Amino acid sequence: MDDVTAILDHMNPAQREAVSAPQGNMLVLAGAGSGKTRVLVHRIAWLMQAEGLSPYAVLAVTFTNKAAREMRTRLEALLGISLRNVWVGTFHSIAHRLLRTHWQDARLPQHFQIIDSDDQLRLVKRLLKDHRIDDERFPPRQVQSFISGCKEEGLRPHQVDAHGDAYLAQMVELFDRYQLTCERGGLVDFGELLLRSLELLRDNPALLAHYRERFGHVLVDEFQDTNTLQYAWLKLLTGMQIPMTVVGDDDQSIYGWRGARIENIRRFEQEFPGTKTVRLEQNYRSTSAILSAANALIRHNSERMGKELWTEGARGEPISVYSGFNDLDEARFIVDTIREKVEEGTNRREIAILYRSNAQSRVLEETLIRQGVPYRIYGGQRFYERLEIKNALAYLRLLLNRDDDASLERVINVPARGIGTRTVEVLRHRARQTEVPLWQALHDALLDASLKGRAATAVRAFAELIERLDNDTAGLALHEIIDHVIERSGLIEHHRSEKGEKGQARVENLEELVTAAKAFTQGETFEPPEAGEGAVALEAFLSEAALNAGDHEADEFEDCVQLMTLHSAKGLEFPVVFIAGVEEGLFPHKMSMEEPGRLEEERRLCYVGLTRAMRKLYLTHAELRRLHGKETFQRASRFLRELPEEFLEEVRLRGQISRPVTTRPAAGLSRQSSVDGGAALPSLSLGQRVSHPVFGEGVILNAEGEGERARVQVSFEGEGDKWLVLGFAKLTPL
Ligand code: ATP
Ligand code: MG
Repeated sequence: MDDVTAILDHMNPAQREAVSAPQGNMLVLAGAGSGKTRVLVHRIAWLMQAEGLSPYAVLAVTFTNKAAREMRTRLEALLGISLRNVWVGTFHSIAHRLLRTHWQDARLPQHFQIIDSDDQLRLVKRLLKDHRIDDERFPPRQVQSFISGCKEEGLRPHQVDAHGDAYLAQMVELFDRYQLTCERGGLVDFGELLLRSLELLRDNPALLAHYRERFGHVLVDEFQDTNTLQYAWLKLLTGMQIPMTVVGDDDQSIYGWRGARIENIRRFEQEFPGTKTVRLEQNYRSTSAILSAANALIRHNSERMGKELWTEGARGEPISVYSGFNDLDEARFIVDTIREKVEEGTNRREIAILYRSNAQSRVLEETLIRQGVPYRIYGGQRFYERLEIKNALAYLRLLLNRDDDASLERVINVPARGIGTRTVEVLRHRARQTEVPLWQALHDALLDASLKGRAATAVRAFAELIERLDNDTAGLALHEIIDHVIERSGLIEHHRSEKGEKGQARVENLEELVTAAKAFTQGETFEPPEAGEGAVALEAFLSEAALNAGDHEADEFEDCVQLMTLHSAKGLEFPVVFIAGVEEGLFPHKMSMEEPGRLEEERRLCYVGLTRAMRKLYLTHAELRRLHGKETFQRASRFLRELPEEFLEEVRLRGQISRPVTTRPAAGLSRQSSVDGGAALPSLSLGQRVSHPVFGEGVILNAEGEGERARVQVSFEGEGDKWLVLGFAKLTPL
């Protein structure tokens, strides 16, 4: 019995009530950092220990794979037993598990493959091309989001009513063809995973009954971000029979743009009568300065279920606000501050840099690299989304499934083996005409000699290569298969011969894939570590790679600064947090400034960002920013103005930096330094427009050094960025 009460240790009364409530539907509605996730984990432990629920009877849904792994680890620590087979995962990974087990009932081939949104986009592009559809009227991304949107609403092509609208009808037809291509190739996209598994349960009453019997309790974290399909899936599975514990915070609903329905949490109590609602109001994460600022910000939203958060914690340091001249200066401030913190004893992994858009990471990354600060990036160009990795995965997929057209097209001429686009076009045409996969079309074309000469030789060599790779890897362990394939396919050599660091990095990434495979079979990474051997292991690995894109980056325990978008920071916490680019148009994002609903979602995103910080928070913005190749003057975000001044402190740079950063006009520049025979330099400041006799007009982006060595970086229209020594360059202020 000791064990059981230990689960309730270090919990406040409301948390304890939630953890130990008798089984029944429960909604834990509470603000950030109030212990929702912790309650969820402890409740699972409680159900197992106090209520005698079998580990197999628990189904827990989290928002990311990282969260799922963390939950499993925490549970194992709490219970002191291994929980390998507990169903803890994301909606996607759980749906995948169902489909893999019941592939026949789901009318899928045994070795179906998951495609990510990148593959999906390629597929759409190819469809448009094949059917000669104008991709300006039907932009591929729009078609893709139409398809995903339909699936998220649970709709199949025949269920979408075009109401006689020709445009919509064309979209639906594309959806239909897309679906056909997927079916033929045994490909399953993310939306399909869920929709298919919903249909699987709906259309197989015996199966549904089996799972309703099996699961004793369903728990969902971050419930505010479930979409229509996920909600329907939960309702179908639990069928008012299996009790559910859902936890969430309406103020942290940030995926409306991707189909999440904040109403799901708002209407939970009505839809599930008898629901017990528990509110948690004590925040254990942040200092009171950070928490009060976050509370003040979110009060500007009108549609709220209403909650208050308080903390016993100290007020702590004020939130530091830094205004950079430009994005480079902003990055430099962030990295300089990080270095100071690290010198003072903060671990790098305790520091996070968050930003609104992926594109912002480049400047930050470059500055970190230049200053030798190790970092790790979540999202963005993820490991499993990198070109060389996707090529390797495509070869591996072909070993399992020759009918995977997308993979075949991806690598038929990578590395280059003399199969030109014309040949691929011929094969594609043939595949379309005879309604067979490309692999089949390729063999047919060789047989009836419609491919001749060099093209035929090259295509035959490719087909033989795939067969040979398959034969030679039979019986090998997973990492040996991968090692063999990246070598013998020629991929390693292909990248090794590429010039510069990029090729080297690609070779390293390919080698990292072998390492990842090893870790996978040993059950160190990814969740259900049930890899098996050979083809089975390979299939499991490929599926997990698609589901986990981004998660296996560097060593999780390496001491690195963490970079990620605000969206992917949900649920996490860090002692020190920087939020970069707090500017109008960037955050709130310009796409959302017109619609009040979306502006409120941006504000919730800001609330999420602020509440990630435990001890110290920095908000930075730049007055001049280069994004997507354009340079614009930026205004500080309205969200900054919405924070009470009493919690803020403006950062002025300290003396050791000779660059003029906060005092304008820039000290080193405006000082009439006497260089080059005593000629006085013009007074210049960052952001100023100047003219140069050769390069023309430009804007000063950056400055370095003083006196003779003072240099400025100027962005010239048409000429790009140049560093010029102030003493020599004849710059005239405009
Ligand atoms: P978010 O909304 O950001 O997902 P959350 O409500 O899920 O936050 P948790 O991540 O579960 O909050 O908890 C926040 C922090 O507070 C964690 O570090 C957790 O360990 C700690 N914590 C929660 N409850 C207590 C408690 N009763 N005593 C001490 N620490 C606690
Ligand atoms: Mg949480």
